[in-house]
Amino acid sequence: MTTKSAAAAARATVYGYPRQGPNRELKKAIEGYWKGRVTAGALRSTAAGLRRANWLQLAGAGIHEVPTGDFSYYDHVLDTTVMVGAIPDRHRDAVAADPLDGYFAMARGTQEVAPLEMTKWFDTNYHYLVPELGPDTVFAADSAKQVAELREALALGLTARPVLVGPITYLLLAKPAPGAPADFEPLTLLDRLLPVYAEVLADLRAAGAEWAQLDEPALVQDRTPAELKAAGRAYRDLGALTDRPELLVASYFDRLGEALPVLAKAPVEGLALDFTEAAAANLDGLAAVGGLPRKRLVAGVVNGRDVWVNDLERSLATLGTLLGLADRVDVAASCSLLHVPLDTAAERDIDPQILRWLAFARQKTAEIVTLAKGLAGGTGAITAELAANRAGLASRANSPITRDPAVRARAAAVTEADTRRSQPYAERTAAQRAHLRLPLLPTTTIGSFPQTGELRTARADLRAGRIDTAGYEERVRAEIREVISFQEKTGLDVLVHGEAERNDMVQYFAERLTGFLATQHGWVQSYGTRYVRPPILAGDISRPEPMTVRWTAYAQSLTDRPVKGMLTGPVTMLAWSFVRDDQPRGETARQVALALRDEVNDLEAAGTSVIQVDEPALRETLPLRTADRPAYLAWATEAFRLTTGGVRPGTQIHTHMCYAEFGDIVQAIDDLDADVISLEAARSHMRVARELAAHGYPREAGPGVYDIHSPRVPGAEESAELLRTGLKAIPAERLWVNPDCGLKTRGWPETRASLENLVTAARTVRGELPAS
Ligand code: GLN
Ligand code: ZN
Repeated sequence: MTTKSAAAAARATVYGYPRQGPNRELKKAIEGYWKGRVTAGALRSTAAGLRRANWLQLAGAGIHEVPTGDFSYYDHVLDTTVMVGAIPDRHRDAVAADPLDGYFAMARGTQEVAPLEMTKWFDTNYHYLVPELGPDTVFAADSAKQVAELREALALGLTARPVLVGPITYLLLAKPAPGAPADFEPLTLLDRLLPVYAEVLADLRAAGAEWAQLDEPALVQDRTPAELKAAGRAYRDLGALTDRPELLVASYFDRLGEALPVLAKAPVEGLALDFTEAAAANLDGLAAVGGLPRKRLVAGVVNGRDVWVNDLERSLATLGTLLGLADRVDVAASCSLLHVPLDTAAERDIDPQILRWLAFARQKTAEIVTLAKGLAGGTGAITAELAANRAGLASRANSPITRDPAVRARAAAVTEADTRRSQPYAERTAAQRAHLRLPLLPTTTIGSFPQTGELRTARADLRAGRIDTAGYEERVRAEIREVISFQEKTGLDVLVHGEAERNDMVQYFAERLTGFLATQHGWVQSYGTRYVRPPILAGDISRPEPMTVRWTAYAQSLTDRPVKGMLTGPVTMLAWSFVRDDQPRGETARQVALALRDEVNDLEAAGTSVIQVDEPALRETLPLRTADRPAYLAWATEAFRLTTGGVRPGTQIHTHMCYAEFGDIVQAIDDLDADVISLEAARSHMRVARELAAHGYPREAGPGVYDIHSPRVPGAEESAELLRTGLKAIPAERLWVNPDCGLKTRGWPETRASLENLVTAARTVRGELPAS
């Protein structure tokens, strides 16, 4: 095709769309089904109605080829597990008895069987269910869901493209099944898996699919030569099939790198690449392989995971460059629109001036269509859209919200000394010991106490105007009194106020910092029927007034023991929000850090001598490519140190992270220069303690001895045994005793019993220490 005819043929498409419906109808139907209030038939028809509405809306907006098969009752990786017949043995009976109930049993577990493990989908906040595969896994094709959804779309007279998780990504996301050797590599099952994909592709072809999309986001991560070879083989074999649709292999979230030449050579008809953050690297990669002269290139130029209006002129320039590099160029979002809210039009509380800066799934769809029109017909075909886009971008760039001179001046004036405590760790511990006078193996908790029904009612009452602010605050104070008196009675050493005033550890601060926006309907799927409304970090960040000091100071006024101040760290504030795209993340993190620094300093001034800055998200936003990690860790640790660097040596800084896999960032954790870290460890029997020791981590640490993810109450002896295990790795002078994480999801009875046991365990083990 010539460049000109390639342009004329440009089409608009997307890889996936939010599943929930405008009013989260899907969540309600599924949860109703679980409770027995909604029949399976009613659930199915709600789901079919939502799919149909999405397709008609996409097609009506001008999307030429709609995706099918991206819909899910829970998770698309779990759907793939069903499609390839990799049902774990423990779930086989349930699936055989009733496929729908069996499906939910795999997702959520039952009284008798554990669910599949859940983990984050690449560096997003979407969670998938981890396939469990072993040497004995036998795959069997089940194309029913894919075929049925394709038929639904075709019956509406639409052009549709089934979207599947590709075989390489599916295997790379899997873990060894229970009973399989721990070093079992699921990728070794590729030869068994490919015939299953061949069968599904043949079924889709028979049902009328002209194209099928195979998603391979795992190929944007660093891959070994053997893994790349497997990818080459997979697509050579699938490409060689005669009874199949045309194949589009899709990559997103980062650059394809070494996988690009492999896929460029493969006998598939199309490739989809991410031209948002990875644009430059993917453009270079395409040029290096001599383009894709005989392939369809789907260009993800509209960011599928942020909330910002696209720079249409810049995207058109990228698309123009791509025209010379492929046989045909189509326009798309960089990834499924699953990761963004549905529609900005639902937001009534956001100033219309700011609303024009934002694009959710529906607006992004319109941008994709506009770009395809512009590519096919020239900029003359989209003059009005370009003018409106330019005006929106200019209003954002020049707004006092995105440009607060005072914030910018302060951030520019930050020096290295601001990010350094006045004394190194080894020297300031003495000041802290003298000041705090804690016993060996001090006990504490991670911050939140059970969020009771009364608290949630109080918040709802406040929102509905049934109580006023004073009434609400009195309820929070009552809760604080209860939490403090319980901790004193139980004998904990470092107390917390319990975080009763917080709905959510990020939202609470976002609501109090200038520069963040809250949405009313900006729901995004986190996992299954759980949806979250991430705040939008839209502008320069400042703190108009203290956010937590009152509550902490009130708690401290009730007791002689130290009460720990509790803040969410800058990296986590960014990780669990939609972050602005008009400046590097490191700059945004620095602004958030400065606002939090003021809070830390105010807490100290109010008499708080222990302050915890939570960074549970530090590891999960680690870039997908190892080459990009040092730069990320540099700004992330700097932001933490800027937050905490202004306190006196005697003030003890804690941090908290909750994941077990962090061997690869121990150096970064050390670079935070915190005095104490608490970590999740109960489930892995203190593995983190051994990992810290192996890396020579020099600071105080509290590997959790109480697994808060379960209502089970660990006995005092069980916690004591974990402590003794911890002591083998961390000396008593540096070991803390605490649960794995906050207690907000727990009930009071089990919290009470578990913490009493935890204190007993600490006392028992203290008694066993050699006298010094
Ligand atoms: N301080 C928070 C709490 O206890 C920490 C939560 C978290 O790590 N996710 O709830
Ligand atoms: Zn935690």
